[in-house]
Amino acid sequence: MKSLLVRFFLFSLVIAACSIAVTAWLASQATTGAIRQEQGDALRTDAEIYDKLLGIAATHRTWVEAKSDVDGLAREHGRRLALTDRGGKTLIDTGTAGSPPLPITPKVSIDALNVDSVLKPGATSKIDPRAVGPFRLTDEEYAKMRTVADRLLNCSRGNFSIVESPNRRLRVSTLRLGETSQWPDCPSGDELYAVTYTESLAYTDLHTLFEGCMARLPGRYYVKPLTGPIPLDWEVTTVQYSDPPVVECMESARREQLRPFVAEYAHLYITEPTGGQPQAIDLSTTGTNRIILVALGILAIAGFASWATATQLVRPIRALTAATKRTAEGDRTARVDGGAGEIGELAKSFNAMSEKLAETERQRQAMVSDVAHELRTPLGNITGWLEATQDGLAEPDPHLVGMLLEESLLLQRLVDDLHDLAQADAGTLRLHPEPIALDDVVDQVVNAQQNREVLLRAETTPVHLTADPVRLRQALGNLVANAVRYTPPGGEVVVKLFQWQDRAILEVSDTGTGIAPEDVPHVFDRFWRADKSRSRRTGGSGLGLAITRHLVEAHGGTVSVTSTLGEGSTFRISLPPA
Ligand code: ADP
Repeated sequence: MKSLLVRFFLFSLVIAACSIAVTAWLASQATTGAIRQEQGDALRTDAEIYDKLLGIAATHRTWVEAKSDVDGLAREHGRRLALTDRGGKTLIDTGTAGSPPLPITPKVSIDALNVDSVLKPGATSKIDPRAVGPFRLTDEEYAKMRTVADRLLNCSRGNFSIVESPNRRLRVSTLRLGETSQWPDCPSGDELYAVTYTESLAYTDLHTLFEGCMARLPGRYYVKPLTGPIPLDWEVTTVQYSDPPVVECMESARREQLRPFVAEYAHLYITEPTGGQPQAIDLSTTGTNRIILVALGILAIAGFASWATATQLVRPIRALTAATKRTAEGDRTARVDGGAGEIGELAKSFNAMSEKLAETERQRQAMVSDVAHELRTPLGNITGWLEATQDGLAEPDPHLVGMLLEESLLLQRLVDDLHDLAQADAGTLRLHPEPIALDDVVDQVVNAQQNREVLLRAETTPVHLTADPVRLRQALGNLVANAVRYTPPGGEVVVKLFQWQDRAILEVSDTGTGIAPEDVPHVFDRFWRADKSRSRRTGGSGLGLAITRHLVEAHGGTVSVTSTLGEGSTFRISLPPA
């Protein structure tokens, strides 16, 4: 778990998984309710169509007769309804000529004598009550009953209403037999409860069929011959408390009697008007599986995206790590392209650091080679003369000793200068400041550097400040020594001291060789000389001006130069007030 890449990847994967899971859960919760409702609606529509078709089947002898009713039903529900017989032959199809073929399996079968108890729960009998067949009253009987019922209704002042049975028999809603006596002025309602001629015929037929069925049962049952008046709902009273075989017999007798009066058994297909299945929403496991699959797919995409992002994010960090390693191993050329943003900034800082390191390295190498170069000449001279003396080629006379001494003094000066610079670099150059009169320092330097070939003079005004007199003498001494050194005989060197604004200014002007404009920026560099061979001969180490600058800066001052080639130079030290 140390890798940033892996950590970032796992982290974003967990976030993605959580959010996908929560979103999927919320979405499924929100839609399940809506789906249930919609499914309920669809089921209700189907049940309604089924019930109405049953009614049509119960009241028509054939489906062809019922064609216009079925068309109306299809229009009412916006569905295509098709009915076929058992063999698949189309009986009715409300679809147009261009409608696609019907689905393979029918929705349900329609049989008025065998009702589907799932689609019509709570039905007492499997035979649809609307199938009345021979029990249907004639118009004459119906008219008679209507008259009686209307008369009853008129005198009852709205205490009950009239209900019409499927076979057109009229009944009083609440009235039981004999209750009409409560209203003395009213006619007796008994007439409503008498079996009509049509019904008695039908009942007799039914009884015969029932008897036939019962006779076929193993002989445990005795059927009373039908004598006297037949009560209403005879078939119900016969089978109400009977054994299942008896109920079966009554049902089969009724079916047999009604069969010619109802439309034939048919398969029902309900589709969209265009032909497809009505849209049903799938809540089954395939639905859940699909949700899971989609969620997994999204997770995979999220995983891929975060892996890609993580890789992109980590790439510059890896490049930085590699570059840092190379730098640690000594390679100063390592650079990183970090692009934009924070890591880009880091890469830029690294590149800057790397360049600085390379520069320091170059300076160090140049310094070492310069030091070696500077030491080689005086050491070579000393060694050469000493070997010549040893071999007897030169006499150790005072002249030779003087020469050797001069070379060793040169070495001494070089080593002292290097020591001063090293101290300045390390920040250990110690100053011992004290209140001094700067004009005294100038006088001391000018007196020490007096020379027969060059006119050296001082122009001073009294200036007092706090500084290290030894170090200031060294700094000014270097400038005066250079001025004298690079001024030909007969020339002039003037050292001026004055106050300008609140600063003390020391100016060393000469009428010497001057410095070429392109060389001016380099005069304060270590080991830099305009003319290498000449300067060494004249005793310069190439470190004087570098040391002067360090000493002046240690006092908080600045040193600068203006020069014209062939006319002379002016070096200026500016020191802050005490
Ligand atoms: P050096 O010991 O060689 O004098 P410095 O650091 O003192 O070293 O001077 C660096 C170089 O600057 C000298 O070699 C010389 O070329 C140039 N320089 C310094 N002072 C003067 C001057 N007053 N006139 C002309 N050139 C000068």
